[in-house]
Amino acid sequence: MIENWAPSDMPICCAVGCAREVGAQLVSLGVNRYILAYDDEGSLRRKVPKMAYTVKGETGDWEVVVGLEVHAQISSQSKLFSGASARFGAEPNENVSLVDAAMPGMLPVLNAECVKQGVRTGLALNSKVNKRSVFARKNYFYADLPQGYQISQYEEPIIGEGEIEIDLEGGETKNIGIERLHLEQDAGKSLHDQSPTKSFIDLNRSGVALMEIVSKPDMRSPDEAAAYVSKLRSILRYIGSCDGNMAEGSMRADVNVSVRKPGEPFGTRAELKNINSIRFVRQAVEIEAKRQIKLIEGGGTVDQETRLFDPNKGETRSMRSKEDAHDYRYFPDPDLLPLELNDAYIEDCKATLPELPDAKKHRFIDDYGLSPYDASVLVAERETAHFYEKAAKASGDPKAAANWISVELFGRLNKSGVALVDSPISAEQIGALIGLIKDGTISGKIAKDVFDEMFQSSKDPGAIVEEKGLKQITDTGAIEAIVDTLIAENQKQVAAYRDGKTGLLGWFVGQVMKQTQGKANPGVVNQLLRSKLDT
Ligand code: ADP
Ligand code: MG
Repeated sequence: MIENWAPSDMPICCAVGCAREVGAQLVSLGVNRYILAYDDEGSLRRKVPKMAYTVKGETGDWEVVVGLEVHAQISSQSKLFSGASARFGAEPNENVSLVDAAMPGMLPVLNAECVKQGVRTGLALNSKVNKRSVFARKNYFYADLPQGYQISQYEEPIIGEGEIEIDLEGGETKNIGIERLHLEQDAGKSLHDQSPTKSFIDLNRSGVALMEIVSKPDMRSPDEAAAYVSKLRSILRYIGSCDGNMAEGSMRADVNVSVRKPGEPFGTRAELKNINSIRFVRQAVEIEAKRQIKLIEGGGTVDQETRLFDPNKGETRSMRSKEDAHDYRYFPDPDLLPLELNDAYIEDCKATLPELPDAKKHRFIDDYGLSPYDASVLVAERETAHFYEKAAKASGDPKAAANWISVELFGRLNKSGVALVDSPISAEQIGALIGLIKDGTISGKIAKDVFDEMFQSSKDPGAIVEEKGLKQITDTGAIEAIVDTLIAENQKQVAAYRDGKTGLLGWFVGQVMKQTQGKANPGVVNQLLRSKLDT
């Protein structure tokens, strides 16, 4: 009897890891998106996932708690409060208006496109849209912040609470709470490495529109933090509110990490600033958690501070102690009216949203019978999902299409550094190839060679099969003749087989395949050999 099962009315994500632990037989039910397991009395049960990630310290296991603040640059033509271009890669100070340079008397004018993208993003994050929000001044000095304050939203952000689903290993999912999303200005950049005696300032980014998306402290492992950033990125890219380009800084994460003994209250967090890749998010959580555990176990306490993650050295370093909100002297910006939205506006924003990654994932699982893992891989990018659906329809076998794309095609694309949009093989061609396997024209093994050739030449699979004479031999008579000769010429092996060395069957099959250049129908070969050898 398998112990520790959940009551049947309890919601579950899945239990791949822990069910394996107790040796349960796993059954994936696409319809309910649940992975269930039979216990050894044959009744179907659901198990409480207990796959908690912990870090071993000297005093026992520690739990890691993570919350993220992600800054995402809105894909708008111009800045949040000025008409200057928001384009990346311009010459220093090329995109600076008098507003961005904070010339006296300049007034901010809110960019309607940025508001729309903020609302669309909030809706896509299943979060509450606040009909009234207020822009506030967050006062602090930076050489690259000419206004002396950043316009942000504080007490009344445009978007309130919500949640998104993240995809974990083995098809498991978890909901992560969203605390808020607010609109704010980006700051400029100081350059200290251009001259030995001078610092330079580039204000191109000054005033560019950002969405700061704050999560609840709901993540419990480096993987969950990474999965959260990757889902967020996927959603933003689907709706086009941010290009998600982490290398160019359009999306960067402040990673808050604390540790605690399981069941204890939250510990003090440290904030790791501006992490610019998903891999670094994972590493930063891991390294910072270890640092805190060592510190606490050595008798110290964690300071609430801002730290820098150095991926080269594999360490985090203190930058500054964390300031509190009151240090910033927030107050409503007197140059800007409260932002008021009505239901019709919000409905209009909603109407512009495409099918989102999670909805698509669940539809792929339900309609095409895909595993949650395969579905999550195929929906991560909108273009991939579209490509997949075209191939699935053309093939008449959605599961096979998923396999050919996520294993064979992605494998080859990755290896040759080609993006899916430039794939030498079209979705329709994948469909056609699967059709050739299904109707018995070629075997699955030959199909891989045909696929290689398709990848090289972009030719249709049917043409390649014709040209190279790769049609499967299903003519039983022809195969039988080969089998008979083989048996006649290899009496020693035949005797050994009949003596109990049944593993030799593989050798016989291999010989037939060799003689037919792999074109013999494997089912027919096996059947003929067995019938002749077993008598
Ligand atoms: P601040 O602006 O001071 O950094 P925010 O409220 O904007 O504060 O962000 C706090 C972030 O830290 C949120 O993402 C939240 O989930 C996370 N967080 C809060 N408490 C903890 C904790 N004990 N451990 C880890 N993360 C935490
Ligand atoms: Mg913060």
